[in-house]
Amino acid sequence: MRKKVIAANWKMYKTPAEAKAFMDAFIPLVKGHQRDIIVVCPPLTDLHVVVEAARETNVHVGAQNVYWEKEGAYTGEISCPMLVGAGCQYVILGHSERRQYFGETDDTVNRRLERALEAGLAPIVCVGEVLEEREANITEDVLRRQCTNAFRGISAGKAAKLTVAYEPVWAIGTGKTATPELAAAAHRLIRAEAAKAFGKEFSEKLPILYGGSVKPENANSLMSQTEIDGALVGGASLKPDSFAAIVKW
Ligand code: PEP
Repeated sequence: MRKKVIAANWKMYKTPAEAKAFMDAFIPLVKGHQRDIIVVCPPLTDLHVVVEAARETNVHVGAQNVYWEKEGAYTGEISCPMLVGAGCQYVILGHSERRQYFGETDDTVNRRLERALEAGLAPIVCVGEVLEEREANITEDVLRRQCTNAFRGISAGKAAKLTVAYEPVWAIGTGKTATPELAAAAHRLIRAEAAKAFGKEFSEKLPILYGGSVKPENANSLMSQTEIDGALVGGASLKPDSFAAIVKW
């Protein structure tokens, strides 16, 4: 049985004061919840308050991106050791908004992944097709390409903490959700790619999350699919009661 991971991606929302208010309200709502792994990924400026609030609770903390170099003259970037030092256990990599607006490529996802794993972080690698690709019937090719390139050169031994998130880009922030069956089919394909890269045994343990307009109303039907090992949640993770309801799907 793979334990489900329910992760919040706050994107560029919340000041430190707003992050603290969220955590103060959210933590009591999920107190004692052990069925699923709970992760909150705030903007970097909120990390300190979120890590403090999550200390000795069942809530884990992640970042939304990381640079691959350890240190150096890279103005504006943050390294893996810096995230670990700040109290992060998780990091989201290759989110479609990074690919769309900030020049993220399959190759840079691969570099970030390698370094995040070396640093002991648990990376959540995002893959997913845009609407034109789905309409052109090339979703499978896109997912295969994104997985093969992200996993290149990484051994199963090194990849133990890997999580993948299938996020069809047409479902992110749009209110459109993939049907549970459509998501499950994509997850099977990703699992097959992971089996090619890391072996069957590894692939059977790999958590594959679904992301794209997950909300309290659809969380149960999505999370009930055996192929779906959790959710990466954007908009609906910004309010404590709504994210807690998803955690408790
Ligand atoms: C996301 O940002 O990863 C995401 C899935 O967003 P939303 O839940 O708002 O679609």
